[in-house]
Amino acid sequence: MKILSGLDVSKALRIEIKEKVVALKTSGKKTPHLAAILVGNDGASMTYVAAKEKDCQEVGFNSTVLKFDASISEVDLIKEVIKINDNPDIDGLIVQLPLPKHISEKKITETISYKKDVDGFHPMNVGMMFKGIKTFLPATPFGIIKMLAYYNIETAGKHCVIIGRSDIVGKPMSALMLQQNCTVTVCHSKTPDVSVFTKQADIIIAAVGLPNYLTGEMVKEDAVVIDVGITRVADASNKNGYKLVGDVHFESVAPKCSWITPVPGGVGPMTRVGLLLNTLEAINSK
Ligand code: NAP
Repeated sequence: MKILSGLDVSKALRIEIKEKVVALKTSGKKTPHLAAILVGNDGASMTYVAAKEKDCQEVGFNSTVLKFDASISEVDLIKEVIKINDNPDIDGLIVQLPLPKHISEKKITETISYKKDVDGFHPMNVGMMFKGIKTFLPATPFGIIKMLAYYNIETAGKHCVIIGRSDIVGKPMSALMLQQNCTVTVCHSKTPDVSVFTKQADIIIAAVGLPNYLTGEMVKEDAVVIDVGITRVADASNKNGYKLVGDVHFESVAPKCSWITPVPGGVGPMTRVGLLLNTLEAINSK
């Protein structure tokens, strides 16, 4: 069994991005600029936005965080998004989700110019992704594709079973693995017996959100297993009071695998680098 290290791959990709930014700057071209909108004081959202800002600084991008009170109206937030759409200095815009209940995430996502939509959530970008037209890909599936390529994992003709069908992971992942010439099966909460499919899978991508969901007896020998899940589970021995647990029961699954991602240090760092790659690309999309 070998480890697919998102930490190692993301480190290598960040060096490449940094070098490209230096080259842009020395040739007098524009420095990529990411804007993030943060509404309210949700602790997890604040942590995610701070991490994205730090990532930008590390690779030499400009970044701007626009913070709004949770009471901002939908109309006013739409106006703020339009202002950024019209600002030529900003290349990419993300709106940290979730938004307060009185604001439609769908409306806000659809207001972001698809040319600045570095999260890849705009219906225009989703459509282009499904058609295989080059565009911004959602960061997690994009990061997973990059990781598979980095380790030269064979995908053509392989049976890939994806567990989960969310708009941000499962569905886009299925489109991208099809484009990698996999035979793709997507399982979800209404699939009567997921193990029927996972036992046949050459590649399993688990994006369920249930800690230790995938166990050893559900996996065939030599499978490649990608664990997207991250759940905070109470852990008194940890100074934070919790630990991060994936969807894969690592102890029973890992001995059967050819390759496996750990949690943490697997898909998470690849998601972060996926957003950076999109932002770098965004300077060409206006
Ligand atoms: P989500 O929107 O809650 O979707 C979960 C999916 O799992 C749904 O499609 C659901 O089916 C399916 N599901 C639930 N219970 C199931 C069961 N017992 N058997 C089979 N399928 C089941 O979650 P998400 O946003 O895709 O995220 C999934 C996990 O990945 C979470 O732990 C999240 O924190 C993590 N995540 C990690 C990263 C990263 O960077 N590492 C990025 C994104 C998400 P239905 O559609 O039928 O409800």
